[in-house]
Formats: sequence, C-alpha cells, structure tokens
Amino acid sequence: MKILFRENQPPLLQDYGIEIPMLKERAQKVRDELVHLFTNTIISTEVDPVLTDEDFYRAHHPKFLELTKSDPESVVCQTFELINSDGSYHRYNPQAATHPLSELVDLYKQSCATSYLTLLEAKKYGSAYFLGGGFHHAISTQGRGFCLFNDIIIAAKKYQAEIKNGIIWVIDIDAHKGCGTAEISAGDESIYTLSIHMKSGWPLDSEKFDKEGNLNPWFIPSTVDIGIEAGEENLYLQKLREGLAKLEQASSKVPVMCIVVDGSDPYIDDALPSSNLLQLSKEQCLERNLIVYKFLKQKNIPQAYLMSGGYGDKNWIIHKQFIENALILDK
Ligand SMILES: [Zn+2]
Repeated sequence: MKILFRENQPPLLQDYGIEIPMLKERAQKVRDELVHLFTNTIISTEVDPVLTDEDFYRAHHPKFLELTKSDPESVVCQTFELINSDGSYHRYNPQAATHPLSELVDLYKQSCATSYLTLLEAKKYGSAYFLGGGFHHAISTQGRGFCLFNDIIIAAKKYQAEIKNGIIWVIDIDAHKGCGTAEISAGDESIYTLSIHMKSGWPLDSEKFDKEGNLNPWFIPSTVDIGIEAGEENLYLQKLREGLAKLEQASSKVPVMCIVVDGSDPYIDDALPSSNLLQLSKEQCLERNLIVYKFLKQKNIPQAYLMSGGYGDKNWIIHKQFIENALILDK
C-alpha cells in the first residue's frame, strides 16, 4: 500500500475560522506513526496531476462550477453552513481566521487532484491511501456537508476517461450516507456504490420530498444502501459482509478500480455529535476495514482509499491501525 500525504491539504478548517473539529493533525499523526513504524519509504512523492474544468464538469453542473469562480466565498459558506437564515454566524469565527474563506476552493480542487493520483497509485501498487479527500456529500449542483467538490466521482470519471474504461466501485464506510456520490452516479451504469451508514440522522433527517414533491437529492439510493439503526452495532460487520456480496451481484463486470471512502467517524470516540448514532469500537473499526481490504485483494481489484470524515483528536488511530495492518498483510 502506498500512502499519499500532502502538507497543505484540507481540512485546515481552523485556519479559516471554521469551528468544526476536523483537525489537520489527524493526517499528520498517521503519517508520522507510519514513517516511524516502517523504515522503507511508503509515502508517495508523485506529483499531483493537473485537473481541468472538464474533469470537474463530469461530476458537477456548469452553473455550480461558475459560482465557485465568481463567488467562492458564498460556495464555502453554503458547503459548511456558516451563516444562519437570520444572517448570524454558525460555527464560524472570522476573528480566528488567518486566511480568507475563498482560498478553500482552490485547496479543495488540489485535493481532488491528489484523490485522482491515489487511483493511479492504487493501479501501480495494488492499493493506495490518501490521507485526505473523500468528499462524499458534494452533490452535482452544490457543496454540502463539509464537502466542496465530489472528488470520488471526479477521480472515478477521469480514470475511466483517461486510463481504462470499465466498472468502478465505491465502497463508503463513513458514518454518514455517501449521498452526493449516489446522486451524481445515479443512472451511470459504470459506477456501482455501496454505503453503510447511520440509518437516521444527517443527511437523512430532513423531509424526504421537497415542496414540489421531488425526492431530495440526498435520499437518492446507492446501488446498495445499508442503514444501521442506533444500538445495532453488533450487526454491523455481518451487514457489511452481506452488502459486499450484494454489490458484487449487482455489478455487471469485475471493476477495474474500487474507491473506499474510509471515514473514521463511526468510531465511538469520534467528537462530532452528528455521528453519534453509530458507535463502533476500535476493534470493530479494524475488522470493518480488513473485511473490505481482504474482499477486494482476493479479487485482485485495485483499492484507492480516501480518508473522509473523522473528528476530534482520537480518530487518527483508526486510520493508522488499518494502514499498519494492510502494510503487514502486503509483505
Ligand atoms: Zn461522516
């Protein structure tokens, strides 16, 4: 497994006055521990590919992309829900900011390029893990839920366009439903998605239909959705195994790549209140990861991991324990 680490990647939200406990130390700690444990170099030094507008158009509507250029600040405010309807601030303290919000657009674009590189490295090495990315809530028309662009679909579609046509799977094991990924890839027969997530809570806590009677986009189903009820943690691993079998059955061909959206927010010590409805132990989190890893490895499917959600100062251990085990299994 090759590891991709970027010093200057989102989330660096504290620098922008955004008060969400997604700490930049999470990726740094994982990198430091791995470098300490494994003397052979495991950090990829490949240069990020340059993404063009066309790469972003494959996942997002032109109007949204225009807005990210003409009014980047409003796009960031919407993505992170920083301003209430009465104009007051929500989890935003401009006094604490050392950088302007508008800068985040380019940082997230850069992150999408590293996510794409992760697929290329996974193809080369069998698996690759980017200590960043995994912005699964961004839908075609807007950034949502701390996710500005959907790097998962951007990377998948670019891989199909430039490297290899073929099927791509997305396995999303973050606590929250991979709703943006499902919405953008709906009707696309070249992408199959599995999401195992909290059955209730965000983003599934709003009305299912809007005032015109249309299904709200975050309810659009993945190929395989597995909702876990609060208190059902003991069923999680079995349901994951069953879900993987269903994904394989649904898929018309063996995929050329699988992107794993590896959020650590199902962990019981995660600090974000909105992920509290799913509380896996450290051991369950590792088992969860190894079930997916071995399932794909056995089938010789390249695995590209994106870090996704994980909040507070304890979650880094969940990413580190999995990567450490994967590196040992690879030997
Ligand atoms: Zn999450």
